[in-house]
Amino acid sequence: MSGHCGRQGEGSGEVKYDVLFRWGRIVDPTHARDDIVDIGVSGGKVVEIGEDLPAAEAAQVVDLEGLTALPGVIDTHVHIRGPAHRMMARAGICTALDMADGGDVLTAMPSSGAGLNIAALRTMPAYPDAPPGREEGLRLIEKALTEGSIGIKLIGGHNPSSPAATEKFIALANEVHAYVAFHVGSTETGSHLRGLLEAVALAGSNCLHVAHVNSYLRGITDDPVREALEGLGALEGKRNLVSESYLSIINGTGGKIGDDGAPTSHVTRNCLKMAGYAPDRAGLRAAIADGYGQVQIEEGGYTVLVTGSRGVSVWEDRDTDVSMSFPVNKPEASFLCATRKDASGEFVVDAISTDGGGIPRNVAVEHGLALVRYGALSLDEFVLKTSTAGARMLGLATKGHLGEGADADITVVDEDLGVPVMTIVGGRIVMAHGIVYGDGGTIITTAKGEPAARETGLNVRVVDPEDFLLFKKSRQ
Ligand SMILES: [Zn+2]
Repeated sequence: MSGHCGRQGEGSGEVKYDVLFRWGRIVDPTHARDDIVDIGVSGGKVVEIGEDLPAAEAAQVVDLEGLTALPGVIDTHVHIRGPAHRMMARAGICTALDMADGGDVLTAMPSSGAGLNIAALRTMPAYPDAPPGREEGLRLIEKALTEGSIGIKLIGGHNPSSPAATEKFIALANEVHAYVAFHVGSTETGSHLRGLLEAVALAGSNCLHVAHVNSYLRGITDDPVREALEGLGALEGKRNLVSESYLSIINGTGGKIGDDGAPTSHVTRNCLKMAGYAPDRAGLRAAIADGYGQVQIEEGGYTVLVTGSRGVSVWEDRDTDVSMSFPVNKPEASFLCATRKDASGEFVVDAISTDGGGIPRNVAVEHGLALVRYGALSLDEFVLKTSTAGARMLGLATKGHLGEGADADITVVDEDLGVPVMTIVGGRIVMAHGIVYGDGGTIITTAKGEPAARETGLNVRVVDPEDFLLFKKSRQ
């Protein structure tokens, strides 16, 4: 039986391994490994890799025959809300960077966690006119860090700031080495190609994480392939930028209607305009009724999308304040973002993310493996983009590979079915065959956030901002 767990070692001698994962195909490009071998885990770490490790010396033996064990998926763009942890565990995600869904991501983890490793960013308020003063900007960033986040997120695409305010936040975050990610767009542009080009300019020589690159290439300004080639061309060779893209057709936005009668999110307005709906209450209502606008609800322990008359009643019952999705991402643009390399053979976009979490599109593994089956990525490249890159982005030297001494974070996939079947974090099985066993988890934070993170009672992993790829890439 493959993928089964729980058999106790039969030896009476010393327990050498807490868990022995045996007979799986291990693919780890960092160590040029692609073999059917066993992995011995002790204290949450990989302590030995080899053939025929002694099962009698393991407290637990898990057979992975017929399955493939990859360095644990690190998702560099998620939104943690509701059942997000469980949804990520089911999707094979071991570690994730929350892109700012509010202040309670870390404090809610003791009750909502599924045993995963989580880092978080804090959303900065919008400054549509004058930029914040230096003191004010630094105070907001400092607050984010001391509350446990590793940095900040600017959400210009949804809630735009002026270009000057955006530039200011990027510069201040760089000054104090806080992580800084940007959903592009300002009062002068929007969440599209021109916003992306503006973001590159606003960063100047400062370091910036350009969030979900594919989502700016929806064919709003030009044909999506031409947009993608231009947008990727603008990112290529920029040592001060890191980026990710995702592989889902649906986006994530809000359905809230503001006092002016228009959706408060500029992304939602764009989505309506793209499909010929008016960017107002009546337009959004019609879009949901027609099945184009999809409302996120929690059902059966997970987030699902509802539309049509049911979607409209949920939207109205909640006074329009719902999370929503529209099928607006262009597969041709997502494909190019996932696969495009520069002349030196490096990927232009560093990582494949999901932009999922509580949004039901945690498809990095399923859709990424589809690209592998198609021949657009090798399995090694899939690992680089879904694990190794994320480890470098978050400064986690013991993740992103499966060498001896690495954290025993493993995503087990069934290559024939193209799905994740087991999520292992620190040697602990947090999900197997769709059943989530994990709870709690580990907060990834900086020294500044460590006291707040410790207060949660969860495990804490302290990272050094100097190790973030964001700040390292330009030095390499
Ligand atoms: Zn996002």
